[in-house]
Amino acid sequence: MALLGDHIAVVTGSASGIGRAIAAGYAREGARVVLLDVNEQAAAHAAKEIRGGGGEAASFRLDVTKREECFAVAEQIAAEVGQVSILCNNAGINRRNPFTSDPAAVLKDWQDIMAINLSGVFNVTHAFLEPLMASKGRIVNIASIQSFVHVRTPNSPAYTTSKHGVLGFTKALAAELGKHGVRVNAIGPGLIETPLNAEVRANNPELVRIFMDHTPLGRAGTPLDVVGPAIFLASDMSAYVTGSIVMADGGYRSI
Ligand code: NAP
Repeated sequence: MALLGDHIAVVTGSASGIGRAIAAGYAREGARVVLLDVNEQAAAHAAKEIRGGGGEAASFRLDVTKREECFAVAEQIAAEVGQVSILCNNAGINRRNPFTSDPAAVLKDWQDIMAINLSGVFNVTHAFLEPLMASKGRIVNIASIQSFVHVRTPNSPAYTTSKHGVLGFTKALAAELGKHGVRVNAIGPGLIETPLNAEVRANNPELVRIFMDHTPLGRAGTPLDVVGPAIFLASDMSAYVTGSIVMADGGYRSI
């Protein structure tokens, strides 16, 4: 039996990588999915692919940093698709400039990364709060191993801070919304091969080696490796799970 029948699931940043795979996975499990992304064309293409495979999917353009756009798209989805019961906050970017590099670049990284990775999660969650409360819904936030670590695999302070923030927001909302029947959890992916890190993987084999040396499963992940945890956290299989983070990192954080 499909695990997500009768659900409407919104996935942000779902034109590419992890979000795209999660949207397809949710559709395979019977959810009607709504793909949101700044890249309207790619989101429409991904939605079409899901429909081609027999799933139900719609797509809308959304820049998660634009608060008014988030509320407008939530209204449009309520009118055109229905009551959202699953929200996967996945949209995110990464840049790896150290804090000691060019101050202008460091400031820009901080502003862009915090606006998308953290304020974006806040904006979209706020915009869909009403249907999520009404449906006793589920929120799945895409965090990271950088929600816990920094030194072993250097990243920009902005990215590490934003992903610590996503985990903190997950716990805060879980504590507050639990009594309304809304569950809020996170996923902590390790190194997952997506366009987000294609350049780093191509140009920085040393960094990839550091990751792999510390990953018990000895390989990088694929977007599909994140889909199972995302379905679990969105479905009734995790009915008594909230405020948690499921790591999809090949064991990276455990050792
Ligand atoms: P990805 O392939 O680059 O996909 C991210 C998608 O989000 C892209 O379609 C991107 O559009 C879109 N996006 C960017 N800014 C946006 C905005 N302001 N509003 C709406 N959509 C926006 O990246 P990914 O690797 O799948 O990453 C997905 C999530 O997983 C991110 O939160 C990331 O931090 C997290 N994560 C990834 C890894 C990994 O190793 N890949 C590990 C841990 C956590 P454009 O391409 O047009 O910018």
